[in-house]
Amino acid sequence: MVIDPGDEIEEVLGRIQRHGLQVKQIVVTHAHIDHVGGAMKLKAATGAPILLNQNDTALLAMLPEQAAWIGVQDPGHVVIDEAARDGSKLAIGGGNVSATVLHTPGHTEGSICLYFPAEQKLIAGDTLFAGSIGRTDLPGGSFEKIMRSLHHVVLSLPDETVVIPGHGPATTIGRERKTNPFLLG
Ligand SMILES: [Zn+2]
Repeated sequence: MVIDPGDEIEEVLGRIQRHGLQVKQIVVTHAHIDHVGGAMKLKAATGAPILLNQNDTALLAMLPEQAAWIGVQDPGHVVIDEAARDGSKLAIGGGNVSATVLHTPGHTEGSICLYFPAEQKLIAGDTLFAGSIGRTDLPGGSFEKIMRSLHHVVLSLPDETVVIPGHGPATTIGRERKTNPFLLG
């Protein structure tokens, strides 16, 4: 499973080859260009389907605008093969690895986190960072919604869960619960 192939697809493919892996799913936590920009290139190389939450369809249609905002090339049209719906289970490796989709709107309408219960890991997209949270000032963002997602969904996970954010260092749910200034009080 490749999550958020924003760019540098050659490097992603190099790692896959080095480890003798086969890509079965390309999962996108939200439709920002730095998370989805390389998805079609990876799909062309692997044949794996692309999954995105259905609530980010409008934002996905804004990829040309997103490219203009940050001054990069428009990656072109991205075709979503499957909706990553809240509560759905994504299994790979013949069921050896399985993740639950948690819909966590706020950074974008269709933002998701992926929870791997057996591995005690959360792939958090841009919803939760070490010491911070995702910005909510871009189109589709809502501070109220991200706070609700964080308190009702993300913080309901066990303290020992390792959080791997979309940017910056890893952390744990317990550490963020105790020290993240956005989650205190
Ligand atoms: Zn983002």
